[in-house]
Amino acid sequence: MQALMMDRPLLVSAILDHAAAYHGDTEVVSAEAGGRRSRTTYAALARRAAQLAHALDEMRLGSGDRVATLAWNSARHLELYYGVGGSGRVCHTINPRLFKEQIAFIIQHAEDRALFVEPGFLPILEAIADQLPKTCRIVVLCGADDLPTSETLPALTAYEDLIVGRPEAYDWPSLDENTACALCYTSGTTGDPKGVLYSHRSTVLHAMAIGWPDALGVSAADTVCPVVPMFHVNAWGLPYAVPMMGAKLVMPGPNLDGASLARLFDEEGVTMSAGVPTIWMALTAHMEKEGARFQKLKRVAVGGSAMPPALTSRMNALGVEVRHAWGMTETSPVGLASAPKAKHAGHSDEERLALVAKQGRPLFGMEFRVEGADGGDVARDGKSFGALLVRGPWVASRYFGRDAESPNFRPDGWFETGDVVTMDADGYVQIVDRTKDVVKSGGEWISSIDLENIAVGHPAVAEAAVVARADEKWGERPVLFLVLKPGTEKPGVEDIKAFYDGKVARWCVPDDVRFVDDLPHTATGKLRKTDIRKLV
Ligand code: ADP
Repeated sequence: MQALMMDRPLLVSAILDHAAAYHGDTEVVSAEAGGRRSRTTYAALARRAAQLAHALDEMRLGSGDRVATLAWNSARHLELYYGVGGSGRVCHTINPRLFKEQIAFIIQHAEDRALFVEPGFLPILEAIADQLPKTCRIVVLCGADDLPTSETLPALTAYEDLIVGRPEAYDWPSLDENTACALCYTSGTTGDPKGVLYSHRSTVLHAMAIGWPDALGVSAADTVCPVVPMFHVNAWGLPYAVPMMGAKLVMPGPNLDGASLARLFDEEGVTMSAGVPTIWMALTAHMEKEGARFQKLKRVAVGGSAMPPALTSRMNALGVEVRHAWGMTETSPVGLASAPKAKHAGHSDEERLALVAKQGRPLFGMEFRVEGADGGDVARDGKSFGALLVRGPWVASRYFGRDAESPNFRPDGWFETGDVVTMDADGYVQIVDRTKDVVKSGGEWISSIDLENIAVGHPAVAEAAVVARADEKWGERPVLFLVLKPGTEKPGVEDIKAFYDGKVARWCVPDDVRFVDDLPHTATGKLRKTDIRKLV
């Protein structure tokens, strides 16, 4: 029997309408390069997103046309999310930290029709000017008076000039909810970047899910600062979830160092934030050095790479709860989050840290399988490991414009994440490693993540990376690279190896320890293991 319920599409334009109608006076604060902060509200932001949509109409951008952004987290970038996506175009966020050749590739592959760029990122476009599509219009995110000139780029338009004087209301189209609204390319550590094309439906469902208390947890009583950039899987969905829930939004702009974030958090009363572990490493070090505590910050969500328990413990000591989450560009991104259950209430500190070290349990809607070498499910005992497969309403079904190159999308509907994991009886998943990073020694697998987490617990160590070295006898053996904390005395190689005593089996201890000044990172802040392997 067919139900008798209304069939209303899930659309991103409805999120902004809702925020403007019921949280209209809630602030959106943007920190700018020079340290200045600009302030607006959801009501004003909705009016400007409408003006932008009118401008896009006049630019003759059709439905489904890709509109690219090269920008930090700011209110203007949020206007683009809604003005572009809400009007039926596709907001294509580009990661400015990618190599220039990758950016040129992405712009051509996406066939971007317009590019909205922060003034500070113009040199990136100038460097690839000859590779930009001829019809691609460039709009600079600034006022008319601040519009820079460029010798290599075609006529530039100032964003404020583009939208000024246009009507402040827009009749957002009632689209099919499976229409595309956003496009993100994976950072592509191997091969060319691959595009993931999100729908209105997947975006709205994901935003609802990450708002849940056991996910990232966002309420109208919160002040949220997404430190994770809007060009990194849509800032993990927060630019949609935060207005949906009606929380105050604080956009950090380009200054993401510990001192700048500490000041921003305290002065704006930030209660919740989200970012990769390297961000929290710097912020925690700053707070410890200053002997300071956060005024309001209660919780941070961490993902993108594994959160070392030693860092969780240091953040807890500053009064901040750490919520570990897991995701991928292909999964919008959030699929797992590490919130405790009622039965964990009596946990010791050690047990609590062990739970947070896990990437988390499935959010409703996301289905996971852990597949063993025989193709069957491995035991859910927290020890047996296998390949993590996922499916769900906010998981990609294939890559954009690359039908023939989507081998990890299986015909049976599961997506191969490329992560090797364990799952326990409660559904908590722990990443053992990326399939390609695990060290295969004498038929056993050694987790590079485990060895790195232990190393950063050493008082002299700031950052650690483990990669495999070919070994005649064992196949592969682990090698540890260390960056030391500034001003600490260099420990001996044997001291470091001894630090592993009792923490891992003897045969897992790295064979070799190398001290380096810094380690290469990907555009999303992860260790670039392909480059580190070359140092072996
Ligand atoms: P993103 O751009 O969000 O970092 P990618 O698609 O580039 O996403 O990378 C996804 C991969 O990042 C995952 O498959 C996993 O290996 C890793 N990852 C994400 N979150 C975590 C986490 N909390 N702990 C460990 N690894 C993680």
